[in-house]
Amino acid sequence: MPERVVETTGAEETEALGAAAAADLRPGDVVLLEGDLGAGKTTFVRGAARALGVTGPVTSPTFTLVSRYAAAGADVVHLDLYRLAGLEGEEPGLIADELDGGSIAFVEWPGAGLDELPAPALTVRFEHLGGDRRRVTLS
Ligand code: ADP
Ligand code: MG
Repeated sequence: MPERVVETTGAEETEALGAAAAADLRPGDVVLLEGDLGAGKTTFVRGAARALGVTGPVTSPTFTLVSRYAAAGADVVHLDLYRLAGLEGEEPGLIADELDGGSIAFVEWPGAGLDELPAPALTVRFEHLGGDRRRVTLS
């Protein structure tokens, strides 16, 4: 897929972008989300999860590392590896255990677990542009 750059002007637009991207995802796919705190990664995942059939609240798994949501098509797995950065491989296999061919996985702060992650179907990078504007690069 060629790189695509979109500017959003509010959280709803970033959610909609996530929802649109979800249409191309299949069970087993892994999506990596890169960017600073508050850049919109979880917001994007929320929109994607909704589109994939997740009905309950979708919040950041920053403290739990992982959330798993059942949905009609495939389970949605949401990993946030922010806290893992300081753990230095203390949990070998933790990430791999959460990924399986039947789920669609979204990974925030993937840098901390890159060794264990499969090649992504999609990588999304988020940048602050001031106020509520964000640049979202899908590749
Ligand atoms: P991250 O997961 O990258 O830390 P979040 O998605 O949790 O970021 O938070 C993004 C915050 O920024 C939310 O409070 C959201 O409402 C706000 N926001 C404002 N404008 C945007 C935008 N264009 N896209 C995404 N989030 C936005
Ligand atoms: Mg987040």
